[in-house]
Amino acid sequence: MKYFADIFGDKPWIISGPCSAETKEQTLETARQLASNGIKVFRAGIWKPRTRPGNFEGVGEIGLEWLQDVKRETGMLTATEVANAKHVWSAIKGGIDIIWIGARTTANPFMMQDIAESLKGCNIPVLVKNPVNPDVELWLGAIERLESVGLSKIGLIHRGFSSYEKILYRNEPGWKIGMEIKRRRPDLPLFCDPSHIAGKRDYLFELSQKAMDLNFDGLMIESHINPDKAWSDAKQQLTPAALKEMLGKLVVRKVNPATASMESLNELRFHIDQMDSDIIDMLRKRMDVCVKIGEYKKANNMTAFQPSRWDSILTKYVGMAKERDLDENFVAQVFSAIHDASVNVQTKVLNS
Ligand code: PEP
Ligand code: MN
Repeated sequence: MKYFADIFGDKPWIISGPCSAETKEQTLETARQLASNGIKVFRAGIWKPRTRPGNFEGVGEIGLEWLQDVKRETGMLTATEVANAKHVWSAIKGGIDIIWIGARTTANPFMMQDIAESLKGCNIPVLVKNPVNPDVELWLGAIERLESVGLSKIGLIHRGFSSYEKILYRNEPGWKIGMEIKRRRPDLPLFCDPSHIAGKRDYLFELSQKAMDLNFDGLMIESHINPDKAWSDAKQQLTPAALKEMLGKLVVRKVNPATASMESLNELRFHIDQMDSDIIDMLRKRMDVCVKIGEYKKANNMTAFQPSRWDSILTKYVGMAKERDLDENFVAQVFSAIHDASVNVQTKVLNS
């Protein structure tokens, strides 16, 4: 954490630059404009993982020279994505300051192991994006592989998750996974990459604000001097000027210990804790009744799952939720989890 605090200073910590380095001019001009807005770390992909072959796959090693020019001219630190040992050697030899691991790479333990081994003895900062699938263990595993070779300047980037369904954003935000990784590794800085969640520049502000409200440490945002003409991810990039305007609108909540009364917060938390304990007790009691229902069903040759009963429970409680101004989707999820657990318990009773 200290390494990142020292280079970025005040939060939110911003990393910005184009999805891809395309030409020397585009790379340098984007960097100049970002540097004049106070951005301290410049990102640009030079090896690009593309979903389908035939798209622009990055300029390769020549981009390392342009990034060195960026560093020399603007003083910004430079970051690029690596996906194999060859990229790692080139990036380190080419003077890259920070490397990041892309979402498709984090998802592959063989690739992570190779990258980790190639980084042995070189304590370069590494930012690890979440894997494309919503699996916290896989994300943690990738970090542990890097730590096991002695790397200690590790950060996390939450960039959302692939979805088969057509959704508003390019990737499912899956905020609860971001919160879970922060719970498991509070020692590591957590960046949000709203660009790859959004897929469209219109959504960047709301996603960045959400990340701030969830206490993320920083943002990695794609910026390009001519976004509509970008060779990759054109729809989600924004100009350095638009980025500056967007960052200026973000509400970054910093608690003032002099005026915030922890006493009243603690009192409210005390109430919540009492209610949460009551919920646990109720769930225990509910489960005891489920066991009895299971015994009745066993004695009368009934199946554990009764679709019409489940339908009436769901309809009734979602209706009650609506009347009480509770989110219907949320209540449906809670009851679905409770009902699943009951059916599982009853299935065990039927087979006991
Ligand atoms: C990128 O940062 O340009 C990129 C390819 O990201 P991701 O690995 O999140 O798809
Ligand atoms: Mn991109």
